[in-house]
Amino acid sequence: MRVEHHIDLKPFNTFGLSSIAERMVHVEHPEELQDYFEGGEPSPSLVLGGGSNMLLTKDVAGTTLKIELPGIKVVKEDDDHVYVQVGAGEVWHQFVLHSIAQGWAGIENLSLIPGNVGAAPMQNIGAYGVEIKDVFYELEAYLTQDKTFEKFGLDDCAFGYRESVFKRGLKNKAVITSVTFRLNKQPTFHTSYGAIQQQLDAIGVQDLSIRAVSDAVIAIRQSKLPDPKEIGNSGSFFKNPVIDSAHFDQLKEKYPAIVGYPAGEGLTKVAAGWLIEHAGYKGKRIGDYGVHVKQALVLVNYGGAKGEDVFNLSEEIISTVNEVYGIQLEREVNVI
Ligand SMILES: Cc1cc2nc3c(=O)[nH]c(=O)nc-3n(C[C@H](O)[C@H](O)[C@H](O)COP(=O)(O)OP(=O)(O)OC[C@H]3O[C@@H](n4cnc5c(N)ncnc54)[C@H](O)[C@@H]3O)c2cc1C
Repeated sequence: MRVEHHIDLKPFNTFGLSSIAERMVHVEHPEELQDYFEGGEPSPSLVLGGGSNMLLTKDVAGTTLKIELPGIKVVKEDDDHVYVQVGAGEVWHQFVLHSIAQGWAGIENLSLIPGNVGAAPMQNIGAYGVEIKDVFYELEAYLTQDKTFEKFGLDDCAFGYRESVFKRGLKNKAVITSVTFRLNKQPTFHTSYGAIQQQLDAIGVQDLSIRAVSDAVIAIRQSKLPDPKEIGNSGSFFKNPVIDSAHFDQLKEKYPAIVGYPAGEGLTKVAAGWLIEHAGYKGKRIGDYGVHVKQALVLVNYGGAKGEDVFNLSEEIISTVNEVYGIQLEREVNVI
């Protein structure tokens, strides 16, 4: 186990926020988890992947476990599918590119999502009409209380919109070590969501392929979302709230341009970005932090922000949106 002390997490989180980790333990082999937990070490304060879905508001006392488990391995194959087991420490987008190069379909719409494979099931990452639950087969996690490795199938994970059992009942109790995906040998294209088809037309794609879809998604994301290498951020800061359709209809009378989508019987999913923008926050900047100029769902660090300031801004946004629309926003980002 490689151990370091007093590490500034600034380069380890896409918000680019400074936070001192008292002790960082690098986990490069699954057995190291066993050694750690069976060796009587205290529970870790933080499990860290790529740091692209967290807001660090303070220093991290105790131990940060940095999950760096490698490996991409085909474990099974049938006529239609290939089952690929991927180490939790692999970079998600590199795995997407690898899959495309192999001709494995199913995750091309999830191109360029930052972070590591191990964190992808945490919030059932999704984009452009696809979520990882659509290609999920199973995962392995180390249960820190039972001190055992366990397999979780699709039903065990309780995936929902940016949700899973690992954010709820098993929060801070499971370290995901690998994820096995069931990818398709024959692609089914999902191009109707967002601007994918428009982008494919603009590039002049004649023969649709998973690479073309991935390229289109990458181009759209690069034009819409701030690159964390340039402006610190964690992607969508809030979830899109799901409300009663009756409530939505009332709001629609008052705000005809409000954006919402059917979300099951009697429910509507509202675009949180629209609510935040029309509550007056889009592009708002306070010193070194604020709301992105192009995308109101994204809070940003222009350089020297403190996590606490970004958190306070998110509190203010939640309270204003509630006052104006009677809708309670929920953070997508994990506050540490
Ligand atoms: C520019 C940008 C765009 C984004 N776009 C999207 C998008 O389109 N769709 C989407 O769903 N998300 C998006 N995200 C959010 C983020 O990329 C995903 O949530 C990603 O899966 C986080 O991975 P990570 O390794 O960085 O996780 P981290 O930020 O390191 O961790 C996230 C949470 O998971 C826990 N965790 C991490 N690894 C493990 C593990 N191995 N076992 C147990 N717990 C673990 C952490 O403790 C933390 O609570 C975006 C983020 C950015 C910055």
